[in-house]
Amino acid sequence: MKLKGQIILMVMAFALSMTFTDCNGRRETPAKANPVHQKSVVSKAAKSEKPKPLYIYMYRYDDFPVAKAKYLCRELEKVYPSVILVKTALPLPTKEYYKKGNRYRAAGLLDDLERFKNGGFALGMTDEIIYHPNEMSPTWGIFGLGRTGKNVCVISSMRPKERRLQSDDNMRKLMLHELGHAFGLNHCKDQHCFMVDAEHGDKFAQTPAFCDNCKRYLNSKGWKL
Ligand SMILES: [Zn+2]
Ligand SMILES: [Zn+2]
Repeated sequence: MKLKGQIILMVMAFALSMTFTDCNGRRETPAKANPVHQKSVVSKAAKSEKPKPLYIYMYRYDDFPVAKAKYLCRELEKVYPSVILVKTALPLPTKEYYKKGNRYRAAGLLDDLERFKNGGFALGMTDEIIYHPNEMSPTWGIFGLGRTGKNVCVISSMRPKERRLQSDDNMRKLMLHELGHAFGLNHCKDQHCFMVDAEHGDKFAQTPAFCDNCKRYLNSKGWKL
């Protein structure tokens, strides 16, 4: 019997995707934790049970460091219960590369990530410079970009002007800001809120948290702020 159990476990393990892991690299099965609520579930207890929040899938592009991704994953898990760090890195889409400026089109990366939401959210992470057009330049370097309410965002650890890496804590704040957009938040007037408009600059130092309004909104979407 023991052997039979082991074989069943082995078959199950094989059936699971090898690429989905938790922040520490342990395998996860997102399908199980994101149940489809069927009409046949009639018990009162089941009815009152809240569905688990949608998964946020975290994707490393190319050689974005695993250690940095794991740090961000653990930080995100502190405020959101359903996070999957995808083990296999995605290749940066070459068609989004702007050679002269040595940078990638951020909206192009979002288009790419749209395919990997798996019914949840997709967050891309890159060490390359990313750009988005504005009134100053059609290839203006940015820290991150999120599509408001569209479940997709991308962050870069490379500061485009100085061409040096962000600190881990800035990356954490950047991730939460862009995810805020992905979950439907616009920029916030509160100058101390994570959702403040960076206005082409860097406001990491002045934003210690989400403001109460943004917190309330995100908590209604399954966050634990
Ligand atoms: Zn923003
Ligand atoms: Zn706010």
